[in-house]
Amino acid sequence: MINNSTIASSNGRFYLPDQVAKGLYINGLWQVASSGKTLDVIDPSSESLVARVADASEVDAMAAIEAAAAAATGWANTAPRKRGEILRRCFELMTERADDLAWLISLENGKALSDARGEVAYAAEFFRWNAEEAVRIQGQLLTAPAGTNRIIVDYQPIGICVLITPWNFPAAMATRKIGPALAAGCTVVLKPASETPLTAYALAALYAEAGVPPGVVNVVTTTSPSTVIAKMLADPRVRKLSFTGSTPVGRTLLAEAAKHVISCSMELGGNAPLIVFDDADIDTALDGTMIAKMRNAGQACTAANRIFVQSNIYDQFVEKLQNRMENMIVGPGTSPHTACGPMINAKAREKLVALVENAVSLGAQLKCGGATPNMKGYYYPPTVLADVPLQAKLNNEEIFGPVAAISKFNTEEEVIARANDTEYGLAAYVFTRDVSRGFRVARQLEFGMMGLNRGLVSDPAAPFGGVKQSGLGREGGTHGIYEFLEAKYIATSI
Ligand code: NAD
Repeated sequence: MINNSTIASSNGRFYLPDQVAKGLYINGLWQVASSGKTLDVIDPSSESLVARVADASEVDAMAAIEAAAAAATGWANTAPRKRGEILRRCFELMTERADDLAWLISLENGKALSDARGEVAYAAEFFRWNAEEAVRIQGQLLTAPAGTNRIIVDYQPIGICVLITPWNFPAAMATRKIGPALAAGCTVVLKPASETPLTAYALAALYAEAGVPPGVVNVVTTTSPSTVIAKMLADPRVRKLSFTGSTPVGRTLLAEAAKHVISCSMELGGNAPLIVFDDADIDTALDGTMIAKMRNAGQACTAANRIFVQSNIYDQFVEKLQNRMENMIVGPGTSPHTACGPMINAKAREKLVALVENAVSLGAQLKCGGATPNMKGYYYPPTVLADVPLQAKLNNEEIFGPVAAISKFNTEEEVIARANDTEYGLAAYVFTRDVSRGFRVARQLEFGMMGLNRGLVSDPAAPFGGVKQSGLGREGGTHGIYEFLEAKYIATSI
């Protein structure tokens, strides 16, 4: 095992303070768990132990809530300009340390360094964007329709926020919540995924350096998320739950939050269709498909899960995609040449094996990949399945791995119906040179976001989020900050 204080990036710089070895970050202090328990952080590229961090109990979680409560009034009353300047400093520090942070993400998550660098840049932008939003919270002043009085709408911080994030974007999923929450004047307790806590702790140290006061951001890791989160949600001072993760866990948390009528933002799973019409520029469509499918080795909520290609160009597209997928370099995330890193753990890889076997048993054509390599690390090769039948399980589940599942379609009407035939509604992608068709299809697809001739939709300036069972609310853009604000209406006779 590497001691946390000795984890160094490839350029030899240290980026984790010694105290991180203790884990929990509560009220600006690094603390061991009250039970003394720890949890193991595993490098998915080698299956070896990277570090041990504190494993919080309900007692520790409540200490974090106390700290957030104690800091709440002071932070809410801090001038928006000052809050914005501190957030801007978070952006600058993240940008200065981008290489170190990217390396840390690759180490604990396994994603290729190029993906990790992209994530750090994206994650840091949530601080820059929200530094600007902090001073632009817009209220309203209206004359009542009867003409008898005025209506004032003021926005206030919603209260203490519990934030829960997944392992697949350990930096960005945290900053996408912390940035707007702090800009709105809220204090928070973050519970990062236990697979990837080191990035969250490294960022906590950075926030302190940027001037975020003690108690405003608290971070607790735990292997007992359901009891720890339930305990926090039962505290009446907690007014917001912002969750990013799978749809099944989201449903459970919605039920838990309902007991206390807590405001919820939910960024959940996806089952993105990617549609290539026969008038598309094939190279643009291939570039877009590779990004939409292979970012983070396919472990993204926006990943293209079902690829539909129109019959006239079907064979040509399958052959070219196979060629690109076969040529990807598979290896450890921290190696500079890697294009496709490992899966997060053995369970995630077993799921892929089962989904591919199921599709092939039902008649899908295995064009490349499909065999687990005999080596340490949770690797699965870039895989192409063609002629995937409708009843294959992967049409209804998140693949969450480097498996491109392609099927043929004939008409626009047919492909829209097939694309919408899912309980999910996060992201969709369409490739066509016909602009009016692009907009027509966009309006009919039941998804919160659509890439038109693009394989990437994420942008801090845009509202990210899903419809149907992919979630509630939006993160980013001008919408993001309002998830952490409550409207206060004042009726006045002036
Ligand atoms: P997950 O739902 O298993 O876990 C997410 C977080 O919830 C983790 O911190 C986990 O510890 C915690 N958690 C798990 N069970 C809990 C419980 N009972 N109570 C409270 N917390 C609990 O998801 P994951 O495997 O970490 O991440 C992958 C999933 O996240 C995929 O479904 C993916 O689509 C989704 N995701 C969505 C978005 C989005 O913006 N919509 C972004 C990234 C990932």
